[in-house]
Order: sequence, then structure tokens, then C-alpha cells
Amino acid sequence: MSTPERSLQPVNLADGWSPASWRGRPALQMPQYPDPSALEAALAELRQLPPLVTSWEIFALKKQIAEAQEGQRFLLQGGDCAENFSDCESGTISNRLKVLLQMSLVLVHGLRLPVVRVGRFAGQYAKPRSTDLETRGEVSLPSYRGDVVNGPEFTAQARVPDPRRMLTAHARSAMTMNFVRALIDGGFADLHHPEYWSLSWVGCSPLAEDYQKMVNSIGDAVRFMETLAGVEVHNLNRIDFYTSHEALLLPYEEALTRQVPRQWGWFNLSTHYPWIGMRTAALDGAHVEYFRGIRNPVAIKVGPSVQPDQLLRLIDVLNPDDEPGRLTFIHRMGAAQIASKLPPLLEAVRRDGRRVLWVCDAMHGNTESTANGYKTRRFANILAEVEQSFDLHAAAGTRLGGVHLELTGEDVTECTGGARELTEVDLERAYRSTVDPRLNYEQSLEIAMAIVRKQGQ
Ligand code: PEP
Ligand code: MN
Repeated sequence: MSTPERSLQPVNLADGWSPASWRGRPALQMPQYPDPSALEAALAELRQLPPLVTSWEIFALKKQIAEAQEGQRFLLQGGDCAENFSDCESGTISNRLKVLLQMSLVLVHGLRLPVVRVGRFAGQYAKPRSTDLETRGEVSLPSYRGDVVNGPEFTAQARVPDPRRMLTAHARSAMTMNFVRALIDGGFADLHHPEYWSLSWVGCSPLAEDYQKMVNSIGDAVRFMETLAGVEVHNLNRIDFYTSHEALLLPYEEALTRQVPRQWGWFNLSTHYPWIGMRTAALDGAHVEYFRGIRNPVAIKVGPSVQPDQLLRLIDVLNPDDEPGRLTFIHRMGAAQIASKLPPLLEAVRRDGRRVLWVCDAMHGNTESTANGYKTRRFANILAEVEQSFDLHAAAGTRLGGVHLELTGEDVTECTGGARELTEVDLERAYRSTVDPRLNYEQSLEIAMAIVRKQGQ
């Protein structure tokens, strides 16, 4: 997607690390595969398959993250909580891309900063769960752990971990990626034609007028620059788009960890930008061990129980050389706790002079259940967490460099509130997520507009 960058000399090869060294550490959230030989056969096949991303794309993204760390870019990371194999379908993929492009347009225009665009897709198939078993009435079955592990249906057969699903996950990720790359290379993201990414809802949305004004003003700016330069402005007809997922299922990640000609070290080539979830971020755990040796930019979710000292030790392990672009902390505290939990962390990292990108996940600290059993999130809480994040960073002398959101381009009703004031009753109408509730297209755009209102110049 961007210029290759060569980096032939090791900065510091991780001591005692190998793609399999995580196996010597406690690995939480791993499925129990019933047949070890079937598991080995699937992994052997996976190790032979081509990678999904390239090292030069990874370097290009790392550079963009480094720029975001310096306040020269803003990161937008979004997508489903969990992709499903059945969602690998052109309409769903292009609608998700459209809403992310629209949000990034709003952010670029309002913040006057280039945006780093990262999807939570093309591999977001593994889910951590709070319990190993799910009980309904008299029946207990293994929890659903994402389509790469088992099936969501509540039957004994669907819930058995099946290693062949890793091959399907690889194939579906490749298909998703292929379609996104083709759309972008074909001009889908061309700033001359924001109408390509128009979703049918735009016309009747309460946000339509504001959005259309922004589109027109960008169109004017593009035409003005072209008139001024006398030639077509380059780089406005194509953009970079990167992928990310929670690298939870370590056997899968290990099989896609590769060396690359003329580069030192190892790369996770299943995604550009893997992250470690809150439940698997222990310093001496398998996930931190695996992440320490790969050269990708990496992120860690930071929840309300993390202590300042823990965070500094994670930096020691994951970014000992203070490499630009390497490490992102995604805080997910919840609107009710962020004001008390975040400042001591910001202060500790700032005092130590450590280089990280701070990103706000405004979703995972704000999940609640309704009386009729839906997992939901209130738009007002999501917005409040984003807004407080900007203020708390400003007060601490640090910078909020991006947002991480669970969203979809579909017209779902999973989070309450927003411009259409969805209520708990609306949840029944179009609740489709198999795991966490997502912002629908309109609520997503509304968050982007609110960020601009809060921060725009
Ligand atoms: C997620 O991102 O879907 C997730 C499970 O987040 P966290 O690890 O922050 O709870
Ligand atoms: Mn989630």
C-alpha cells in the first residue's frame, strides 16, 4: 500500500524469543481441541499458506503511528466486535468500509489532520470470554469463542473447537482483504467522489445536512487545489487502509509468523496491527511473550484494574528500545471510571518519558444488560468517555491520538441513544451482533462529528 522501507539491522532481537516461545507461558483463553493430531494437521497446512499482509505495509503503518504519536495524525480504528464467517459478503464489507471512510472524512476535515485508517476486520474472529461454559436452563456447553474456534449455535456439536476453522478464517480474511484492496485501488475511496461511499440512509438522516456540507466543502477544496496546481492532485484518489484484530488464538498467529527476505526478525503476517485484549495482558503471560518478538506495531487494551507500575513494565517488555510507532495503549475504562482511573496512568508514562500512542476504546467499559437480556451500550456514555478522554489527556500533558470503536455500516439497533434516540424497545428490531453491541452507521458518524466539535479548529 505504501513505500517499502528497509531496515536491515536489528535494533534488538528479542532475547530467547521464538514464534513458539509463548508455549512456555500461561496461555489464557485458549480452546481445548479434542484431537491433537487434527490440530497439528490444520496448523501444518496454515504454515504453508501465503501471508495476508506484507512487511512493507507493516512498516508504512508503523510510520503513520509514529506520526500520530507526535500529534501529526489521528487514528481511527473500527469494526465489528466479532466478524462472522457468514458476514464475509460484499455488501457488509463495503458498507463497513463506507462508514469508516465517511468518519475519516469528517475527522480529516474537522481536525485538519491526516487520519490513520485501521479496520477491526479481515481476521477479527477470536473472542475472549468471561466464562468457559455457557448455561441455558439445565444445559451447559462450552462458550462460543469466535468463528475461528467454534460455532455460535447453542448445540453441543457447534461448540466443539474445530481446528479446521482456522483455515476458513484465513481464507475469509484473505477474501475480505482482497475485496477491500480492490475497492480502494479501483478508486472507491477517491476524494473526488465521496458519493461512492454514500449509504442509502444519508438522505433521511438527521445528520445528513451537516455531512453534505462537509462533502461539498471538501469537493471545493480538491477542485481549488487542482486548479492551483494545474494538475490532478495525487494521493487524493487513493488512501491507505490497514487491518487489525485481537491476536488471541496464538497457535493461529504463530503459524502466520514469518521471516521475510532481506529483513531481520519476525513478522506477524496475519494482520498489520495486532492487539492484546484486556484479559490476556498479564506481563508474564503467553500473549505478551508472543508480542514481544514480532516487528509489527502492537497495541494493548488497558482496563481500570491496571496499575501505573504494570504499564511501565509492559513498555519495558514490549518496547525496550523506545521505537517510534511500536506501542499503542488502548484505554477502555468506562465513562463512570475514566476520570479516576486514567490520570495516574497518563502521569506515570509521561513522567518516564515513554513513547506510546494513546487511544480511547469507548465501548468496552460501557457495556450493560437490559431487563430483557440484551447486551447494550448507551450512546451518551460512549460519547462521554471520548470527550472526557480528550480533557484528561490535555490536563495530564499527554495527547489522545485516536479512537477505537465497535461499529458496522448496517442499520442495526444494538446501542441505545444517538440522533434517533433508540430505546431498549428498539433493540429487538435489529440486534444482530453475536457478541458485543455495535454503533450503527449513523451513531458512528455522530461520534466522528462530536470529536470534531470537541477538538476541531
Ligand atoms: C474487544 O475488543 O472486543 C474486547 C473483548 O475488548 P477488551 O479486551 O478490551 O475487553
Ligand atoms: Mn467487543
